[in-house]
Amino acid sequence: MLGLMQPWPLLCHKILDYAAAQHGQREIVSRSVEGPIVRTTWSGVRERALKVAQRLERDGFGLGDRIATLAWNTARHLEVWYGIMGVGAIYHTLNPRLFPDQIVWIMNHAEDRLLFVDLTFLPIVEKYCPSVTSVKKVVVLTDRAHMPQTSLPNAVPYEEWLAEADGDFSWKSFDENTAAGMCYTSGTTGDPKGVVYSHRSNVLHAMIAAMPDSMGISTRDTVLPVVPMFHANAWGLAQSCPMVGTKMVMPGGKMDGASIYELLDSEQVSFTAAVPTVWLMLLQHLEQTRKKLPYLKRVVIGGSACPRAITEKFQNDYDVEVIHAWGMTEMSPLGTLCTMKPEYDGLEGEARLGIQQKQGYAPFGVEMKVTDDDNREHPWDGKTFGRLKVRGPAVAGAYYGGASEEQFDTDGWFDTGDVAHIDAHGYMQITDRAKDVIKSGGEWISSIDLENLAVGHPDVAEAAVIGIHHAKWDERPLLVIVRKPGKEPAKEDILSFMQGKCAKWWMPDDVAFVAEIPHTATGKIQKITLREQFKDYRLPTDV
Ligand code: AMP
Repeated sequence: MLGLMQPWPLLCHKILDYAAAQHGQREIVSRSVEGPIVRTTWSGVRERALKVAQRLERDGFGLGDRIATLAWNTARHLEVWYGIMGVGAIYHTLNPRLFPDQIVWIMNHAEDRLLFVDLTFLPIVEKYCPSVTSVKKVVVLTDRAHMPQTSLPNAVPYEEWLAEADGDFSWKSFDENTAAGMCYTSGTTGDPKGVVYSHRSNVLHAMIAAMPDSMGISTRDTVLPVVPMFHANAWGLAQSCPMVGTKMVMPGGKMDGASIYELLDSEQVSFTAAVPTVWLMLLQHLEQTRKKLPYLKRVVIGGSACPRAITEKFQNDYDVEVIHAWGMTEMSPLGTLCTMKPEYDGLEGEARLGIQQKQGYAPFGVEMKVTDDDNREHPWDGKTFGRLKVRGPAVAGAYYGGASEEQFDTDGWFDTGDVAHIDAHGYMQITDRAKDVIKSGGEWISSIDLENLAVGHPDVAEAAVIGIHHAKWDERPLLVIVRKPGKEPAKEDILSFMQGKCAKWWMPDDVAFVAEIPHTATGKIQKITLREQFKDYRLPTDV
């Protein structure tokens, strides 16, 4: 027997309807790409999103069409997203930090038909877009007054394009499993892989993300997503915020410490989220200017492991609670968040910071396990690490076009490619990427654990650990260090600092000093390039 409840499909544009109905006057503040701060409301965003949908339909775009966006976080980007989804088309976020030929590859693979682009990226588009033949039109996210001369024959300014619609339009209705969005993973090896979100998965993910022990946002919050919409959906905030009716502050293209501080302060932001690099810049700015953060209450930090020093500074010096989080494009993206269970009530100081180094536990909607290479599940003992696998309603079930089928098993588990352990309270800690783990004498050494230890040394700016071929052990760790400006620590200083803080056989066999460590387009250490750089390196222990 089926239930007798209403078949109310979980469609993304219903989130915006809700925000306009219940929180219509709540503000969306954006640092515009043209410069000034601009203000609208959830009602305003909905009104214009309806116009976007109406105009798209008039131009012949609809169900299943991939529509690309190459844009910063602004209210315009939000209204474009919802307008696209409202006609059943698919927003496809492009990451401007990728190399242009990767962007072209991705657009051709997705067969994008239309592109919305911010002024910042127009020069790239002019140069490379002609190699994407599927794109019929380019809408530049600005008005006529700011529209530059362009070599693109089919480019129009957004405001002019939009003005031709009156907004007298009804959202389309369709099955909740219809595709809503698309995002390619920026893999460090091989071609990028397309993840296709559905309306249902986006709505459920937004609910999961907003729950009290996840991000825990409320209509009383003012939320600043520094994490871009073009990378992993702004961690779901573009949907969770209207779902609970928060005020939103969009940073546009300026993510330096001073610009972020200005918005945090002038808009009285209570909640924000970004990768560690952004917070390093902000903390540096605060230190230089001796400013405080009187309004900010919580900050979510993820995308790569959050250094202990960042958590400590935010909490001890600025009274801002840090929520360490882990996720990936394939998970919409949230996987775990390190909020505190009652088991940890009363935990303070170093002990609390120790727990916060973990990536946290999974909310409802994310199942998690850690296995060995033969899919045998490891105990939740907080030390046995293996392949981290996940499943849930907002986790990818396949890649677009069927790439990398081996990552999905018949029971619906997705192999994340991360290596982790889970403790008795369910808290997961990433110890490596599967391809970065160092295999020494048949045992695994976590490169991330060693990196975290090394950056604890006061003279170390950045650290990376890679496996170097070793005749006896197969691989042994090499520690690659960028020193802080003006500091000259010797190899022995760093090794003796690490001594006793990890297993003896984990200790790096050598230390190499470099001026710079290579990073990927999304700010992660590019181990593949580093391994290439050190491919002929001979460890002193390998005799
Ligand atoms: P992306 O899909 O580009 O967001 O990358 C996802 C990957 O980033 C994950 O599979 C992890 O390897 C890494 N990652 C994300 N968050 C964290 C975190 N808090 N700690 C360590 N690694 C992380």
